[in-house]
Amino acid sequence: MMPASPHLANKKVYMETLGCQMNVNDSELMLGLLEQQGFGVTYDPRQADLLMINTCQIRQHAEDKAFSYLGRWAALKRQRPYIKIAMAGCVAQQAKDTVFKRIPGVDMVLGTQNLHDLPDLVSKAFAGQTHLLAADKQKRYSTYDHTVDVTPRRENDISAWVTIIEGCDYFCTYCVVPYTRGRQISRRPKSIIEEVKDLAQFGFKEITLLGQTVDSYGKDFDDPTYGLANLLEALNEIDGIERIRFTTSHPLDLNTPIIQAVAALPKVMEHIHIPMQAGDDVVLERMKRGYTAQQYYHLVDEIRDTIPNVGVTGDYIVGFPGESDAQFQRTVDSVSRAQKDAANTAAYSPRKQTPAGIWEERNEGVIPDEVKRERLQILNAAITEQARKKMAPYLGQTVQVLVEGQSRRNAERLTGRTRNNKVVNFDTTVPEHELVGQLVNVAVTETLPFSMLGKHVLAAGSVPPALAGAPVALV
Ligand code: SF4
Repeated sequence: MMPASPHLANKKVYMETLGCQMNVNDSELMLGLLEQQGFGVTYDPRQADLLMINTCQIRQHAEDKAFSYLGRWAALKRQRPYIKIAMAGCVAQQAKDTVFKRIPGVDMVLGTQNLHDLPDLVSKAFAGQTHLLAADKQKRYSTYDHTVDVTPRRENDISAWVTIIEGCDYFCTYCVVPYTRGRQISRRPKSIIEEVKDLAQFGFKEITLLGQTVDSYGKDFDDPTYGLANLLEALNEIDGIERIRFTTSHPLDLNTPIIQAVAALPKVMEHIHIPMQAGDDVVLERMKRGYTAQQYYHLVDEIRDTIPNVGVTGDYIVGFPGESDAQFQRTVDSVSRAQKDAANTAAYSPRKQTPAGIWEERNEGVIPDEVKRERLQILNAAITEQARKKMAPYLGQTVQVLVEGQSRRNAERLTGRTRNNKVVNFDTTVPEHELVGQLVNVAVTETLPFSMLGKHVLAAGSVPPALAGAPVALV
């Protein structure tokens, strides 16, 4: 463990995180590294000595937002020259030292594979050096294995993200991840198990295993027979952890042993997030997804046949280059065919580094923005309708939820999720601090497409794990 640096004690860092849960987990790790150096954390950028942004490049909008933050912070630095500015994440990995030309006030650029270099860069920056770059290593090890002596600064003390695999080997034609996060590297089981045991000791109840293709875990090991199913079995044995989730699945990697592990292991939650992206075979081929719509449906059928009450969610992209009206309609139809509980949707956003980005530059099959917007509305309506159907049977039933805290929309209510990842907001007479982190029963009084409302069932006994999260008779 690196000792705190006297010249950094009492300094404060403000961290802005854009993008996916992996970025959230990376930010938690970077804040842990900075705390070891003596930094405190502030949520007010005007109070910070170090302003840091962890960037996302998945869509143009997120990239623009990152540079917008940096521009504003550079203006702040002209009034307060002692401030240091750092950029990390996927945009940093791609842009490297061009960031210094674009925004000269930036002091440090840190790539996705160099998180552990942050303390060194920060020491140098506060010693007077500037335009420091660490974004070009082709590492052969997991960042998280390399920083096992660092305690990440977690967002909350109930549920924790645990990165188990970094990078991706798939190179879908629209996606920047293999370029920004590199090739797949799985973390060693021993270091994951130790981290989760530590989390249990600190009182965490739920962990979510993270990876861009989380169920390809272990494919890069010398012994590729150890996979996600084996890891789930090992984590299921850890006392104190009550719920285990994992995301994001890839249809080519989610296999029968993993599906059976979800069905059999009581602590592994019945929820699979498995992006389909498109419902048409020609579009799927142009995306280089590696499966057909029928293969996807067979997989979802196997999931539903094997795991009772499973929640299945996913992602879709509309307006991919060349997508015809008929091809788009097959995507809309897939929502009900796969009986999706919910899905994230996005209009295709061209990324320069990718094959599909090059097609767009050549004006090959570009879908106009207004058509993308219209298709997005149609698809979202289909998903909402399907979600409403999936939620309706819960009315009048009792579900078990892990209480996370106050509801975002109504401070009088608490919120939690069922085993199959449905959001439940509920009224209770018990104070929040007594329930947060507890598994409680809730009687459902109203269902909405993407959440349900209910009342805390005070006197009910515990719901058997096999039924919890499923519509069951009120006890
Ligand atoms: S599998 Fe996912 S992360 Fe990997 S290239 Fe495809 S979309 Fe990107």
